This record gives sequence, structure tokens and C-alpha cells, in this order.
Amino acid sequence: MNTFMHHLYLHVPFCPTICPYCDFHVLRRTKGAVAAYLERLEEEAARLFELHPGSLDTIYVGGGTPSFLRDAELERLFASLPWPLEDEAEVTLEVNPGTVNYRRLEAIKNLGVNRLSIGVQSFDEKTLHFLGRTHDAASARKTVAEALGFGFSVSLDLMLALPGQNVRAELETAAALGVDHVSAYTLQVEPGTPFALQKLTTKADDEAAAFALAREVLGAAGLRRYEVSNYARPGAESRHNLAYWRMSSWGGLGPAAAAHFLVGEKKVVSRRMTNPPLPRWLAGEPPEIVELGPLGYAKEALMMGLRIREGVDLCRLEENSGLELRQTLSIKAGELADAGLLELDENRIVPTNAGLDQLHEVILQLWEALETTYSADFS
Ligand code: SF4
Repeated sequence: MNTFMHHLYLHVPFCPTICPYCDFHVLRRTKGAVAAYLERLEEEAARLFELHPGSLDTIYVGGGTPSFLRDAELERLFASLPWPLEDEAEVTLEVNPGTVNYRRLEAIKNLGVNRLSIGVQSFDEKTLHFLGRTHDAASARKTVAEALGFGFSVSLDLMLALPGQNVRAELETAAALGVDHVSAYTLQVEPGTPFALQKLTTKADDEAAAFALAREVLGAAGLRRYEVSNYARPGAESRHNLAYWRMSSWGGLGPAAAAHFLVGEKKVVSRRMTNPPLPRWLAGEPPEIVELGPLGYAKEALMMGLRIREGVDLCRLEENSGLELRQTLSIKAGELADAGLLELDENRIVPTNAGLDQLHEVILQLWEALETTYSADFS
């Protein structure tokens, strides 16, 4: 196996309460569950380190609510990661307002975390209640202010286009706080969630209007849209998430964590591995492995790469997949460029803002061009 791995995702599955729209792998903590989780995590980290002993550029501790772990548990979690860090490594922890205070933020900083992704979602009490969040607007503001005071690079999660929500007010509040990064999503009603059972629906027009407002308000505050739903000051883009969108190699630890490794073989370009949920993961069940061949990899890399404003690096895509894609994509990409959805140069396919807004259609058309050229031999 290729040992190149500069990025690591670590999943903490515990949350104090379960939000009605959540379809992540989450559960409430029960007696002994966190201790068992930390023990297994340590073993899994040691095994992954044997395979990939290089230094890490990014670590992302997500969930769930990692900040719901107690101080000693978080310390143990970080102590179980044997990798050295590169200079200026980005170490992100997801935090929910209400699970941290000034003292805890200091403890988190002392663990080497330098970036916090704060699950604010809204600054409006009614909207927070609708989303089933346990924090209020004041604690969200306080957590952000304290995090900035400690010198963390701060990213906020906001959810937009919700019923009765004043989207402009939400965005202006977020922008005024002076954070480096905002992830502005719209609600996805996932099957099996309480919101789906209530038959809640979202309106495409409201979502498009919310995204347009996000570009306007966050853009005016110096936060540039660099991915479909993500805005950052120049240089404050999430390096960890960029690794996903660029289809690099990254490791995954914890239940339901996903990993991806470029393999570089003729028939297997990359391998995606997804850990099982907590009980099976604790029992030592190995990850599910999906191998991507040249065509499968090229399709996925296009889909991921076109989410970001930097677009897809065709040299890298051709080198990784072993396919000559420029020729194949040129006619369709030219048509999409004429429609104002893409910008093209010799080495890149770059989505415009309009292209990001119509990404699904752009991807389907490029995929069709790939599929008509490459036979199942490459899939
Ligand atoms: S806090 Fe996040 S991970 Fe936890 S239940 Fe709510 S949406 Fe899911």
C-alpha cells in the first residue's frame, strides 16, 4: 500500500442530544462506551501509524460533538495519535457552543488544536429551537468571542433557508464576529431522520436566494466563496477539507470514519475505506473497502474537484487516473464554458459561481462525456 498520508480524520460519535435532522453516526454516551471507544481508537491509531508513519499536515477531529468529551478523555484521544506534525499543521476540533467554556478552550488549545469549527447553526432562538439545538444565541456568540480571544482560527457552521429565518440577519451577525471561515449550508432532509418522518420539505428557490445572500454578505466581509458552501478569508480555507475535494489520500479513525488512499495501480487508482458503526467497530470489524478504477476515480475526482473554485487540475487527474481526459472532456466542457458555468484553461476546469450553483447538472454532463468514451474496462 502507498504510505503517503498527510491528512487524518478522527470521528467522535458522541453527542449530548441528537438533532432531528442529523444523519451522522452519533449516539449518546453511555457508561463505559467512551472508555471502550478510546481504547479501540488507540489500537486503531497504532495500526494505521505502522502503515503510514509520515508526518501529518492536517488533523480533523469531527463528529458527533468532540467537545462533549471530558478534558481527560480529549487528552487521551490526542495522546493516542503517534504521528509527528508538519510545521504549521492545521489541527481542527469541532465544538458545539455550550460544551466549552473559557477554561476548556484553554485546555483544548494546550492539546495543540489551532482551529475550531463551531456548530452555531443560527443566532436566532426560534430557529435554534426548531433545529433542536441545546445552545442559545448568547452562548454561541460567547464561544466564538472566547475562541477568537485564544487565537484559534474559527470557522462557523450556519444553516440557511429555514422556515421563518431572517437569512440576512444571520449572515450579518456571523460576518460581524470576525471569524476566518463560514460553512453556510441549507437543510438536507435525510431519510429516516425525525424531520423526514415529519415530512418536512425545503424549497429550492429559498435555498438559491440564501446562497446568493451568503455570497453578498460574507463576500462584503472579506470571506470569499471557495467551495459550494464554504467561505474564507484568503489563506484561511480548510486545508483538511481541500484534501477531500482534491481527492488526496487521508486516513480515518473511529466508528464510521472514512479514509481514501491513492494506490496508483493500473486497475485500482484508489481505495475508499469506511469503518463500521460503533458496536461493530468496537468488536474489531474491518472497514468496508471500495476500489475505484480509472473511470470511477475520474468521475469522483471531477465531482469533488468541481465543488471548489480552484477547480480540477487536469494534469493531476490524468496522472492519477491514467486516462487522457482533456480530449474526452473538451467538447462538453467547451459547451458548459459557453453557458457561463465553467472557465477553462490548458490545465484546469474551473467552475464559475453560476457553475457552483448548478453543479449537479455540470457534473452529470461531464460524466456523460466520460462514460461514452471509456468502456466498462476502466470503471
Ligand atoms: S450536534 Fe451535530 S452531530 Fe450531534 S446530533 Fe446534532 S447535528 Fe448531529
